[in-house]
Amino acid sequence: MNEKLLHFIWKFRLFDQVNLTTTEGEPIEIVSQGMHNTHAGADFQQGKIKIGKTLWAGNIELHINSADWFAHKHETDKAYNNVILHVVYQQKGSTAIRQNGEAIPTLELKKRITAELLSRYEELDKRKDWIPCARFIKNADEFVVQSFLSRLLIERLESKVEQVNILLAASENDWENVMFQMIARYMGASINKDAFQMLAKSLPVKIWAKHQHDTLQTEAFVFGQAGFLDGEYLDDYPNQLRKEYNYLKRLHQLQPMEKHVWKFLRLRPANFPTIRLAQLAALMSKEVKLFSQIIEAKNVQSIHRFFEVEVSEYWKLHYNFDKPSRKSDRHLGDGMSKILLINVVAPVLFAYGKYKCNEEFCDRAFQLLESCKPEGNSIIEGWKKLDMKPANAFESQSLLQLKTEYCDKFRCLECAIGHSILS
Ligand code: SF4
Repeated sequence: MNEKLLHFIWKFRLFDQVNLTTTEGEPIEIVSQGMHNTHAGADFQQGKIKIGKTLWAGNIELHINSADWFAHKHETDKAYNNVILHVVYQQKGSTAIRQNGEAIPTLELKKRITAELLSRYEELDKRKDWIPCARFIKNADEFVVQSFLSRLLIERLESKVEQVNILLAASENDWENVMFQMIARYMGASINKDAFQMLAKSLPVKIWAKHQHDTLQTEAFVFGQAGFLDGEYLDDYPNQLRKEYNYLKRLHQLQPMEKHVWKFLRLRPANFPTIRLAQLAALMSKEVKLFSQIIEAKNVQSIHRFFEVEVSEYWKLHYNFDKPSRKSDRHLGDGMSKILLINVVAPVLFAYGKYKCNEEFCDRAFQLLESCKPEGNSIIEGWKKLDMKPANAFESQSLLQLKTEYCDKFRCLECAIGHSILS
């Protein structure tokens, strides 16, 4: 037994409530167990307990042993004068008292909690499987699992709203720049994400917008700002880009990045930053005001189409400047489009819906996730082994949230599935 588990048992009344009495033998009826308080003060507040013939309203404090009341010095703390019931796992030590010496009725739960609940919790606490409840989850109530997963999706999107809001504040409420910076960051994957975001920050969308649809200028912006046009090249194309960039740089007073921030090591050629930069240029050349277009899109299918882009002719034949390769389309690809739709477009739509207090955009974010295939990664593979097979990204995102924010942190007592297993 530990206090967290005792709180859980009290909160959900998972104990035998027939013929409840205080340790002094007075009958008790729990009208309301109170609201769980995780801050300073008594553990449950605004409870209602009938003791004998009197209905008491006030706070409830829980401890493993009754002696803990004194170990925590509650008898000298006025914050505990409003405690109407001391709930203990076992009566061990003196009865709790208020500052004025009045005794507080005690309820002991030890003999009222089933051995099954305790042994299931013990099993969870061993944490020896991939997730603590791996042996029980197959028997959890399907409706409970599905409703909890939907709640987790909202929780996940809400945590991303905070990131969107930070970027929004830093870019003076410019949603286009937020979308652009987030797209760039995700295109950089784990290895070049900071360099991509730095690039996006140095190129405000309002500057790009003036040169949209001109592939040469768009690529000159991207490769020039990224610092790739500093060196000497044999091919005409980079030299043309340099000429164009020098003009744009003067026009917009741009300061290029250092080329050495870009990492190629251990990357497959298709993921080289040069190819990802060419794809970013193609995406922005197709529609630089992506945020406005997505907001105005009539349906989620048209949002998917914004990400169908191919690189320019030069990049179909090269992975780097002056390095010819076999021809291929090198389009953004389903994998990267899916990453952007799941991690950028859906959270931005959801954040915008919250910002505007407009449910329509939040619903659009859910629809978009439902329209995307689920992610394939080790966490999703783990869930599949437990027969939890996501049908789309809405479900896979919920499962990722469950594993990383609940199972890995052993938050089974805050999880509806854990509740269903223990009750
Ligand atoms: S957090 Fe929930 S799903 Fe995860 S192990 Fe615990 S009870 Fe199972």
